[in-house]
Amino acid sequence: MSAPRDPKDEAAWGERTRAIHAGEAPDPETGASAPNIVMSSTFTVDEPMSFSINDMAEEPPFIYSRWSNPTVRQLEEKLAAMEGAEAAACFASGMAASAALLLSRLSGGDHLVMADVNYPGTAELARETLPRFGVAVSRVDASDPAKVAAAIRPDTKLVWIETPSNPILRLADIAAIAEIAHRAGAELAVDSTFATPIATRPIAFGADWVVHSLTKYIGGHGDALGGALIGKREAVARVAADAGVHQGGTLSPFNAWLILRGAATLPIRMKAHAETALEVARFLEGHPRVGRVLYPGLPSHPQHALAKRQMANFSGMIAFQADDAPALAERMMKRLKVIHYAVSLGHHRSLIYWIGTEAINASTYGLEGEALEAYRAYAGEGVFRLSVGLEDAADLIRDLDAVL
Ligand SMILES: *Cc1c(COP(=O)(O)O)cnc(C)c1O
Repeated sequence: MSAPRDPKDEAAWGERTRAIHAGEAPDPETGASAPNIVMSSTFTVDEPMSFSINDMAEEPPFIYSRWSNPTVRQLEEKLAAMEGAEAAACFASGMAASAALLLSRLSGGDHLVMADVNYPGTAELARETLPRFGVAVSRVDASDPAKVAAAIRPDTKLVWIETPSNPILRLADIAAIAEIAHRAGAELAVDSTFATPIATRPIAFGADWVVHSLTKYIGGHGDALGGALIGKREAVARVAADAGVHQGGTLSPFNAWLILRGAATLPIRMKAHAETALEVARFLEGHPRVGRVLYPGLPSHPQHALAKRQMANFSGMIAFQADDAPALAERMMKRLKVIHYAVSLGHHRSLIYWIGTEAINASTYGLEGEALEAYRAYAGEGVFRLSVGLEDAADLIRDLDAVL
């Protein structure tokens, strides 16, 4: 039978070895090499136990799967190792993870600074829900650290950015914004879903929290919703206790098992996503019916220098403008053979979706004046958000060329 797990070994391993082995070990009873799925909702205990998470020791045994579960725990340890962090907590979806952090770290009277363009669910939660609980929210163009600094107030508790950001692939400088947040006594949270730990490890740039939708690249196959919060051990444990136990949006062990299996191949998948995305982005940039193409790996991206500094892999997300966009979207729905016209991203299958500027601004962002102009500078009247999958670049290009 193999040696037991040693987290010290895991920290020294290379990225690919960590993705495969961190958090896992052969089953001590049977020697099973792949992780078991422990579906049990409850666990037998052999000494008297309290009924409340408030009374628990720091590392309580498994008691009930809303508190902790062995399969979910394996994924949490793998994710912490992949991000170079102390700890991770998993949730039922990316939104459950985001809501857990915002609702556990912020109280009435606190102030949140959030990027003004990001994942719609997060933007709407901050604009609509948090103010109902007395949290003040300022939304700023986080591609300019000076705008973040100007929004900070004495009561600012948390700064929230997303990089690259949905849907326009605008970047935020994590190191610069971490310094601004910390100088003000606030924490920095980074939604790193588009980057993954293969492109960017926000903790190394000074972030306090990393947020992931595991539904995207980390799970990678479009068959399991999940989310994670990653950070300091004690802080993660506090949020997990509050949000997991009391809000209840915990990850199912079956989904954790699927996502463990996806995470193991993340480094090699990201390499292929980025290589193919660069080829597709170059094709789009050279096409006469395509307008602006936004891909952090293209020298034409307005923040290419920051991308090179902050991203070890440019990921697989492209946004582009096209002449007859609404009609083109309909042609895509009917005629694309390989690429699926569908929301979501980060899967092995390529996905594309049209995001009109007026519609998303009316429903979600509520940008005005200079902020709306800054969005239009990237998106014009709207962008096609293309998540480049793992198919052959030539087939994706042929598929796009036929509808353009
Ligand atoms: C999808 C996504 C989320 C939400 O994740 P779900 O798993 O769908 O709840 C949050 N942030 C980003 C950047 C996303 O792409």
